[in-house]
Amino acid sequence: MSDATETCIVCDKVTTEDHAAAHRYFDGRRFTLCCPICLRIFEQAPDRFARGDRPQTLIQQLIDEIKWRDPSS
Ligand SMILES: [Zn+2]
Repeated sequence: MSDATETCIVCDKVTTEDHAAAHRYFDGRRFTLCCPICLRIFEQAPDRFARGDRPQTLIQQLIDEIKWRDPSS
């Protein structure tokens, strides 16, 4: 158990280590993903998130794509 807060690299949501959906390592750094959707987005362009170049256009495209493919959400 850990109460340490972490911030999702994709959407900036604050979560905790226990509640994060996943952690990914890239370029020797550890990134927190709050949910499966953020995980999928991160995996499209981990190098760009790692650089701090948060690709908003890419995020929006991928969110739209995921919503379209999964109308139940
Ligand atoms: Zn997130």
